[in-house]
Amino acid sequence: MKIRDRIMIVEDEKSIAGFIKAILSSNGYDAMVAQTGSEALSMISSHCPDLVILDLGLPDMDGIQIISKVRSWTQLPIIVVSARGNEQDKVSALELGADDYITKPFGAAELLARIRVAIRHTRNSAGSLADSSRFTSGELTVDYDKHQVLISGENAKLTQNEFRIVALLSRYAGKVLTYDYIMKELWGPQTGGGNQILRVNMANIRRKIELNPAEPQYIFTEVGVGYRMVEGD
Ligand code: CA
Repeated sequence: MKIRDRIMIVEDEKSIAGFIKAILSSNGYDAMVAQTGSEALSMISSHCPDLVILDLGLPDMDGIQIISKVRSWTQLPIIVVSARGNEQDKVSALELGADDYITKPFGAAELLARIRVAIRHTRNSAGSLADSSRFTSGELTVDYDKHQVLISGENAKLTQNEFRIVALLSRYAGKVLTYDYIMKELWGPQTGGGNQILRVNMANIRRKIELNPAEPQYIFTEVGVGYRMVEGD
């Protein structure tokens, strides 16, 4: 018998909870719903889900509080559901340890892709596949040993900094990384002065790897939040 991943939906709006639950059930997940924050916290500890989908606007508490409570004892993946325009909420959620977010309204395919990525990254960071020496997606290859990015087999001639940015994003392919996170990973915690250096580097990266830098296929901008690399092949 196949063991199904169990997903907890924390959402007070019954129609949205029902919509998500139907998508998950028909795609082989074992889905359950909590309608309040306190219910969610007790169900997470008693049912040990494999992933939580968390609406930030709950009747009894701010979803943000749930993230920090859950993170005090488990790394279980959390995907936040947020309204369009609440970029600061998304950044706060990610900084507190949410794995990703999805913006309302969203479709089934997008939700399932986010879940797949979050579960995979959590399992990989626990040990298995982290030593892979290259990442590929379509015509793009990131060669971690040679410190090169190739497009259709040709060296895209990235600078060291540009390579480090692409390598970092590709290690977390499919997940959004905040500007702050990227800055700290690459230039250390003392970095101040905003994201200008990152934006400049990204513009150069896109000129080198994207067919049309204005409509990127490999690295997407999540407005007000950060960047996300497309999932690998
Ligand atoms: Ca709500």
